[in-house]
Order: sequence, then C-alpha cells, then structure tokens
Amino acid sequence: MSVEKHTLAAGTPYATAYYVINSGTPGPVFMIISGVHGNEPASSRAAQGIASRFSRGDMRLRQGKLIIVPLVNQTARRKGIRGQPDLNRTFPRGPGSSARHPLSAALWQLVLRYRPSWVLDLHEANGLSQLNPQRVGQSLIMSPASRAGGVAKQIIRRTNLSISNQAYHFNLRHRERAGTFRMACQRLLGARAVTVETCWSLDYSFRIQMQSEIVRQFLRAAGLI
Ligand SMILES: [Zn+2]
Repeated sequence: MSVEKHTLAAGTPYATAYYVINSGTPGPVFMIISGVHGNEPASSRAAQGIASRFSRGDMRLRQGKLIIVPLVNQTARRKGIRGQPDLNRTFPRGPGSSARHPLSAALWQLVLRYRPSWVLDLHEANGLSQLNPQRVGQSLIMSPASRAGGVAKQIIRRTNLSISNQAYHFNLRHRERAGTFRMACQRLLGARAVTVETCWSLDYSFRIQMQSEIVRQFLRAAGLI
C-alpha cells in the first residue's frame, strides 16, 4: 500500500492537499471529499483523520484506490463562510457542460483522472432530519436513482443503533440538485454518490465520530477495508 500527498489547484489561491492511497491490488476507486463549504468543520476534520490513519498505517486498504480531499475550499474556510459563490452549484450539470469555478474545475479534473465508482461528499447542516422533514442535519442524501440506496439504508440502521438519543438519528433523503458534486459524479460517471450531513448544533467530537464511522462503513461496504 502506498499513500501519496499531492496538491490540488497548485500555484493558485485555491491550492489544497489531497491524498491518493493505493492498495496495489485492483479494485474499486473510492473518493471522499469534504469542506466544499467553509463553515462545516467536523466533516473536514473526520476526512483528515482518516487520511492520517492511512498515512500512519493504522488503516489499510484491501483493494482498489482511495482518493481523499479533506478540505476542498480553503479560501472559504479561512473566512469561516459557506463560500461565495456556493461552490456546490458550480460542478458540471450534464454531458458537455463544464465546471463554473476554477476550484471545482480542478476538482473535476481529479475526478476524471481517477473515475471513482464510489463518492462521499461530507457536509454539515442546520437542523435535525429526525425532527423536521425539510432539514438534512444527520442524514445521508442521494438521488432517487442512486444505486447506493441499499447500502445507505443498512449504514443508517447500524449507525442509529449506536445513537441513544433518537432525535439525533440519521435518515435517508432523496434530493436532485444540478451543479452539486454528488449529482455530477452520479450523472456523468454513474458513481454511487452520497452526501453525508451531520448537524451543526451537536457536540463537535460527536459529529467527527459520526462522520468517521459512516465513512468507515461505506469503505467496508465497498470492500476497500
Ligand atoms: Zn455543505
């Protein structure tokens, strides 16, 4: 297994680190990104933690490749804002369409180089999905057409068993939103693409723990760990 650290959008104000973890054995390509929005810290912290565990050799890949971009939007993070424009509306909307921002264009180039069959986009949101059907905090989001539905339902069931407060339970949400990273990966690559959302108002360490555990469960389901 090898772990390489590279720079995305090198030499630009958007430069940010990414990791390529290669098992050396053929298998699925799995991509995890986080920090598309600059005000969702627990998700980036979880993604960085997983990259670090592979770097230290505490986690190992059984097969395939794992690409991790822990903090996509460094400039929004430095300001502590979601991002202006919202980067998650600037990804390609269909065949022949291109990304509408230099950072999403650089990230999309990385996607096209590795062509992942699994994609997780880690976010945080306001409100609890369990208490309000309009809210997506504590949810997994995917297109209704996604092939990841079965796996996501299993992961939600298992995750909720570990959460004693029912209000904090995860739910599956179906959303179609053009220009998002998830929709671009699903529509243009046919990837099993899922957005993971924790809720801002919950304890920071609990959110990091939930994000990390859900990522590990998806990696297991895809046969990578
Ligand atoms: Zn977000």
